[in-house]
Amino acid sequence: MHPKALLFVLAACYQSVISVNTGNGTQKDFSPLLLVSFDGFRADYLNSYTFPHLHKFFSDGVLVDQVTNVFITKTFPNHYSLATGLYAESHGILASHMYDPLTKKDFTLHNDSDPFWWNEATPIWVSVQESGYKSVAAMWPGTDVMIQNRTPTHFMKYNGKVSFRERLGNVTKWLSEDDSVKFAALYWEEPDYTGHTYGPDNTTEMAKALKKVDDDVGLLMEQLNQTGLWGKINVIITSDHGMVQCSQGRLIQLDQCVNRSSYIVVDLTPVAAIIPLIEPSDLYKKLSNCNTHMKAYMKDAIPDRLHYKNNERIQPIILVADEGWTIVQQGGLPRLGDHGYDNSLRSMHPFLAAHGPAFRKGYRKESINSVDLYPLMCHILGIPEKPNNGSFAHTRCMLVTEKCTDLAVVVGIVIGVFIVLTTITFLFRLMKNREPSSSRPFARLELQEDDDDDPLLD
Ligand SMILES: [Zn+2]
Repeated sequence: MHPKALLFVLAACYQSVISVNTGNGTQKDFSPLLLVSFDGFRADYLNSYTFPHLHKFFSDGVLVDQVTNVFITKTFPNHYSLATGLYAESHGILASHMYDPLTKKDFTLHNDSDPFWWNEATPIWVSVQESGYKSVAAMWPGTDVMIQNRTPTHFMKYNGKVSFRERLGNVTKWLSEDDSVKFAALYWEEPDYTGHTYGPDNTTEMAKALKKVDDDVGLLMEQLNQTGLWGKINVIITSDHGMVQCSQGRLIQLDQCVNRSSYIVVDLTPVAAIIPLIEPSDLYKKLSNCNTHMKAYMKDAIPDRLHYKNNERIQPIILVADEGWTIVQQGGLPRLGDHGYDNSLRSMHPFLAAHGPAFRKGYRKESINSVDLYPLMCHILGIPEKPNNGSFAHTRCMLVTEKCTDLAVVVGIVIGVFIVLTTITFLFRLMKNREPSSSRPFARLELQEDDDDDPLLD
């Protein structure tokens, strides 16, 4: 086949892909949206355990096999990224423990309600209210804090002892009693708690915890059914991060490398935030050579891909442990399972499933970025996006209103067209090559006639 002809065919196919992917995307369904997080639900649990209820949920909706979350892969940074579409350096919730050098304030998981820490971004529950609707929440991180001078219309003050059933009961009550509630967020601590306590490699304990999580998904579907919300509202079930096994044999003890009087530790593992009390470059050198399974970065040398550099709350030196390694100052292993590691690791990725009138049915997608969820949710709710690091283009094919063609089908068509045209070209050349042998006597005769004619012309 002529190269130009092949280019033409490929260009035509590309054009057809572009045209089907640029539908106007008009979203007319502004049904309420319920966002659910099961903390620490590693994506590949879906392949290793059975989830009859969750399977029923996404088989009639959308499944994204894995979600690339944000660094650091901890609970608070990632829940705020889901709600804002921003990397941690942009929304300001950078870790479980933070220190602000300008105000000298401290942030911990038990002292998180100062709006100062959260006000660098506007979460979706606040945007929903700015658009004239109501939002409700059951213990999603940050929803019991006054952010941009608002809390959700109804919310529950965080209390880890409150059952999933009670949290769910409140959310379904608020959604079913008031049509102006457009956004609801629901948070549950499992399977994170079991993953930390026993380690994700303890399949006996994980199977028990994951069965309870699946039963909770069943309870969610049942309660939505009973309140008449099932099939009418959009539901997204996802998580903040995965989990990896740790061990006593994979400990990095800082006391063996540096004197404690030479630094302050703000956050410890698996990403440590360090404030030097001696010459920073001297401390950096010592920490760099401490353990081959830990990388040390001066703040301005943190890799761009981590999006974890441009914020006052990021300390002068950070240490990043390799997958499954734990940083301590001294002593033993604090937890058998942990997360927080590099967000390029598959073990750190959660999954996402969605169901409801806005979503396609039986649609499966390999991966998205967690920051892409925010623009998708804004689109579903018909509210304007705040500036964010996500892209609606990455998630829009999950929606039933968007005209999308499966890329695999398009590639198949291109290959099919190429094979057919190549075959036709080959057959055409084969027939053409056979022509001279059958007509050779005439050709010779014509040649002889030409030869004979030449002298006459002269
Ligand atoms: Zn978490």
